[in-house]
Amino acid sequence: MNSVQKSGFVPVKEFPDYEMNREGVVRKIGGPQLTVLYSSTGRPYVAFRKARKNRSRSINVLLVENFGPGAAEAVGMPEPDMNRVKTQRELARRPRSGKSLGQDARIGITSTCHGCKKPCINYYCDECWIEKRGFGMDDTSRTHADLYGN
Ligand SMILES: [Zn+2]
Repeated sequence: MNSVQKSGFVPVKEFPDYEMNREGVVRKIGGPQLTVLYSSTGRPYVAFRKARKNRSRSINVLLVENFGPGAAEAVGMPEPDMNRVKTQRELARRPRSGKSLGQDARIGITSTCHGCKKPCINYYCDECWIEKRGFGMDDTSRTHADLYGN
């Protein structure tokens, strides 16, 4: 047995940079314990950092995912409904429509349109791209020839 197992900590599923024990203590491997946060309903959770994003997980869900059914109840927390958790995650993973991808892109405004000086992310704003080449920045696979045959 290695020292990680001896101390009761196991690597957290989905978050290999972190480890946790059956008490619900979560920490970065080789780092400090994560701060326990509380939802508006008082449910404790922690926020992992993965791919430069914060990913929040309820501690009772982490306990059951990493130690099996009953692990949340064993420390006095309500057992999560894992079927519901699974369904919610599948909904969140659904691919977005082209429209919402465009909206996401617009959140990452990094420059100013070289045509009309509006904030934009890709040299020109959507309107100016449409004016210049006949399609917006979301439709990069189509060329002028595809649209107009020349
Ligand atoms: Zn513009």
